[in-house]
Amino acid sequence: MIVAKRFFRWLTLRSVDPTPAQAQFGELQRQIPLLYALLSASAVAVAYTHFGTAPDWMTVWIPCLLVSVSVVRMVKWLRKPAVPLSGEETLRSLRRTTVLGTLIALGCICWSLGLGRYGTDHLHAHVAIFVAITVIGCIFCLMHLPQAAMLVTAIVTLPYLACYVSPSDAVYSAIALNILLVTLVMIRVLLNTFNGFTKLIRTQAETERLNREVTKLAHTDMLTGLPNRRLFFAQADSDIARCRAAGLDLAIGVIDLDRFKAANDTFGHLLGDQILESVGARLAETFEGKAMVARLGGDEFAFVAEGEEAAVLALAARACEALSNPFRLGEITVSIGASCGIATTRDVPGTARALYDGADYALYMAKNERRGFAMLYSSEHASRIRSEREVEGALQTADLDAEMEVHLQPISSLADRTTIAVEALARWDSPRLGKVRPDVFIPLAERAGIIHRLTLTLLGKALGCLDRLPPEVKLSFNLSAHDITCQETVLGILALVRRSGVEPSRLIMELTETAVVRDFDAAETSIRLLRSLGVGIALDDFGTGQSSLSYLRRLPIDKVKIDKSFVAGAGDGEGRELLSAVVAFCKSMHMQCVAEGVEDASQLDFLEAIGCDLYQGYLLAKPMPIDQLVAWQATRPRPARRRVSLSPLDRRPAPEFRGD
Ligand code: C2E
Ligand code: CA
Ligand code: CA
Repeated sequence: MIVAKRFFRWLTLRSVDPTPAQAQFGELQRQIPLLYALLSASAVAVAYTHFGTAPDWMTVWIPCLLVSVSVVRMVKWLRKPAVPLSGEETLRSLRRTTVLGTLIALGCICWSLGLGRYGTDHLHAHVAIFVAITVIGCIFCLMHLPQAAMLVTAIVTLPYLACYVSPSDAVYSAIALNILLVTLVMIRVLLNTFNGFTKLIRTQAETERLNREVTKLAHTDMLTGLPNRRLFFAQADSDIARCRAAGLDLAIGVIDLDRFKAANDTFGHLLGDQILESVGARLAETFEGKAMVARLGGDEFAFVAEGEEAAVLALAARACEALSNPFRLGEITVSIGASCGIATTRDVPGTARALYDGADYALYMAKNERRGFAMLYSSEHASRIRSEREVEGALQTADLDAEMEVHLQPISSLADRTTIAVEALARWDSPRLGKVRPDVFIPLAERAGIIHRLTLTLLGKALGCLDRLPPEVKLSFNLSAHDITCQETVLGILALVRRSGVEPSRLIMELTETAVVRDFDAAETSIRLLRSLGVGIALDDFGTGQSSLSYLRRLPIDKVKIDKSFVAGAGDGEGRELLSAVVAFCKSMHMQCVAEGVEDASQLDFLEAIGCDLYQGYLLAKPMPIDQLVAWQATRPRPARRRVSLSPLDRRPAPEFRGD
């Protein structure tokens, strides 16, 4: 009973999986027209041989009807669209084909048996061949619809057997039984082949599904679930082409988190990942339905949005605002913030890559000038890039030894105004471009990959100046982010110091917070190595970078250089309070503080009142060549003997570490 039920469900295509059904339909589309052509030709041949023997309605009208139906069906199949139908539509069409095939087979067998009543043995043999050919043809052409093939075969073969197998006629009984035997074998072969076909289709479907999954994974950022860099650029390129063709504006925005690295270093990577997840969720919510947002890697996100500049700028501002709200992750609350750079197809021609570069430059400017906000790439940026390229070109071909010089700016004690150290500041007089400022060419030298050579050249020159200064005056030297994270440069510096014969304890290396943050682990290793040899470490531009207190606690830093923007603020009450707090903080951490950019006497008085240790600035002296500095130094008070020891830290063993 169950078997019969199952067979019935199979026969009526109720237990058929829609995936192979679509493939079956595709195969049938190519084979069924052939079946109709075969059927028409065979019917015409049988009708022709029986013409005049059998009545006209059997040899003319029925064949005409059969051929007409065949032609109509053939045309219908040939005109069916190649695009796959839906699963349900396909099944409906297959069921229709099965029913129609059964009806045509029924008509054909009735007609054949009717014709068999007329004519000679020759004609009877022709009918037998017609039946055999029809069955074999059906089995072949309906190979991908076994239900129809079996029904047609049964409907044709069984009545033929019933009429022709009789003990009185051995030849026709043999023909009929032969047809039955061949049919049974072919049905078995058909079922085997069809099973192989469905297996293949299922495997193909599974492979396609896996392929789709892999493609999706390859295009998705695992942490945030947002599209990744690969999908972002592919999508942006196709959007740009579409918008350009339609005359629409399109923008790419690059969003970079402002204080993520500090949070990651302080709270660990697990919490860092949670922050990135939350950032992804906030951005997805902000841009939903308005732009495609992706994570390009690290703490860098980007979006592609259609529309006018003002609308995109407003959207980016909303994203920055959303990210400026604190993130609450369990017990911890972290404030991150983000800046954004935007470039539009109006200002930047070319591909998504070119637009991204423009947006990235605008982001760099936003980070420097309007941190926490969105900035549009402008023509001013474009000309700036051009001039930077010019500087970079001149730097690449510069004779560093001949063109570079160091100027020295004294750093004095607030207590007795004696010179404690001199800061070496790079000066470049390019034969092609004239004088170029260090804050312009140092970052470009980093980008162009020549900072290693440049740092060693400058340090060599600065060390050479030390013999002309009193032995108690130290040399403060600036290291770039690349220098402190590059082992080769650090070893080069140590070799140079050893060759120069200068005591390492006469050196102070100035590092910015940004340099430390870029690769904390590498920076920490270098700092510890320098400290172990007695080199002092100063944190430069304090207050302008990431200002993560954890760095101060985790690194063996002995001096903090308070940025000139804090000193300039000493004119008003709020600025004074801030400056006092910074100095008090340094004291509490047992670090010496150096006030940078002191320009007037009132600032100096205030710094003295709040207990700042050292100062540097135009009020004392501008940076100058060594000859001028020697002359200037001659006019200065010499330190008392006991003052040679500079800071509480100088009295401590060099490698001391205040760890967490
Ligand atoms: P910095 O390390 O913060 O150096 C202090 C800057 O402030 C110098 O600018 C100095 O001339 C200037 N300055 C000193 N006193 C005053 C003052 O009273 N008022 C004002 N407004 N400015 C004052 P400079 O020489 O143009 O250097 C700019 C930056 O370039 C430096 O900032 C440093 O980051 C970088 N730099 C200079 N030389 C080198 C170097 O040899 N290596 C590396 N890696 N960076 C260098
Ligand atoms: Ca400095
Ligand atoms: Ca500084």
